[in-house]
Amino acid sequence: MSRFPLKPARSTMRAFVLPAKNRPMTKIVFPANRPSRTKIVATVGPASDAEETLTALIKAGVDVFRLNMAHGGTGDAQVRLDKIRNAAKQLGVPIGVHADLAGPKMRLGEIPGGEYRCTPAVPMKFVRGKTATEPNTFTTTYEPLIDDLNVGDRIMLADGTVAVQVAEKTPDYVVCSVVQGGVVRSRQGVNLPGAKLSVKTLQSADIEHAQWAVAAGVDYLGVSFVRSADDIRELRQILLEEAVKLGQPLSVIPRIIPKIEKPEAVERLESIVDAADAVMVARGDLGVELDIAQMATVQKKIISVCRQKGKPVITATQMLESMHHQTLPTRAEATDVANAILDGTDACMLSGETAVGEYPVQAVEMMHRIAVETEKLLYERETQFPAVKNIKRESLTDSVCDAAVHLANEIGAALLLVETSTGKTALSLSNRRSMTLTLGTSRNEKTLNWMNLYWGVLPVLNAPEDPRECLRAVLDSGTAAGYLKGGDKVVLVGGVGEEHRNVIYVHVVG
Ligand code: PGA
Ligand code: MN
Repeated sequence: MSRFPLKPARSTMRAFVLPAKNRPMTKIVFPANRPSRTKIVATVGPASDAEETLTALIKAGVDVFRLNMAHGGTGDAQVRLDKIRNAAKQLGVPIGVHADLAGPKMRLGEIPGGEYRCTPAVPMKFVRGKTATEPNTFTTTYEPLIDDLNVGDRIMLADGTVAVQVAEKTPDYVVCSVVQGGVVRSRQGVNLPGAKLSVKTLQSADIEHAQWAVAAGVDYLGVSFVRSADDIRELRQILLEEAVKLGQPLSVIPRIIPKIEKPEAVERLESIVDAADAVMVARGDLGVELDIAQMATVQKKIISVCRQKGKPVITATQMLESMHHQTLPTRAEATDVANAILDGTDACMLSGETAVGEYPVQAVEMMHRIAVETEKLLYERETQFPAVKNIKRESLTDSVCDAAVHLANEIGAALLLVETSTGKTALSLSNRRSMTLTLGTSRNEKTLNWMNLYWGVLPVLNAPEDPRECLRAVLDSGTAAGYLKGGDKVVLVGGVGEEHRNVIYVHVVG
């Protein structure tokens, strides 16, 4: 007997016959403006939390909204979340929501008069407790500060503009000499670059916020000041326990985005990226914690590791900073957004520009326009686009996606269409940076929201479950919206029905 007995031939392949056009069809919403392949994350704040503004921001190109948990509690966040979900529902599009946990962010205590000018001539004294009683003494929100500091350590104040160094340490206070003077204000951020902090990454408020995020159905959770992969594992455990408590399926807990903003996180980058679902290059704090001269090279390194490991990466902070008060960015800012895209970032983020700035909608429009222009260069460079080389190919899905992307490129397809349950196939396609616009459909609402962070993937709501019906709806709606015309080719990848996994099918629009 042969070692490999042939199974009786049994064809399970049903003919892939599309339903006829011109019948009552499921309408799929295609955006009026072609979306950029690069995803846009916008922080919600007082300048953007009206429902009309959220709607305008989505129309201008926002894919994911960030709720900064450092400001306001879960009450405020819930109100904003409800408005975002409502705006998205009205527009008929999926939207991602990212709640960003504050972590052990250190701040100055109250300064009498609100501000103080630090000068090299006058040393500064940091004391324990919440309020300083003597003049020229300072407190912070970080209780173990005095214990964690050693002579020679640097403290950075006011976003790194003021630098002081510990000259003397006693059990009750440290005295610092001012290395670089400037003005500090009450409650401004404090960074201890290089100091190994004893504090836990997840503070009790973060845990409470994370539990709220599970109950509220938030899509992504940011973790500030991550120092090791254990921080991510610990948070995931908390999320799982909360989901069990609430009787929710474990597969829909928020996905975790560590923020790389400590030198220790840069040192342990590989293991942190492995443990993460996506990553943020958090340049605000990172630029204070590291020598700012290293900013660009560290950004490129983080993006490159994320690309190799197939994890979406967000480049954040000061991207269009001057648009807080101007309708146009500087040349340097416009170039910064473009360069992050050329580095291979999946998403660019706006912080204060949309949270408190005067021109939130204009900032998103500008980011969208820069992205669309920059992506033309990616088209030209397509085969040399550095991020595409050495992309991981670990699973059958990865190989199928590889083939689908090459095929779509080869035949000049107008659309790639992917049906995905957890989003794995859509992410694998996204990792391959196909220049063909990729439409993602899923039965799982959460997966649609997650896909909003995947470069080049446009998730759509209401797609019929049957792949034939789905393709028909995409063809009809896509033609009506001007995305498709006669003769265009559409590549379907994924499951053609339950029984046919890993199928690639090409359809020519009739
Ligand atoms: P933050 O994080 O805005 O919450 O500080 C981003 C950053 O540090 O860049
Ligand atoms: Mn930060």
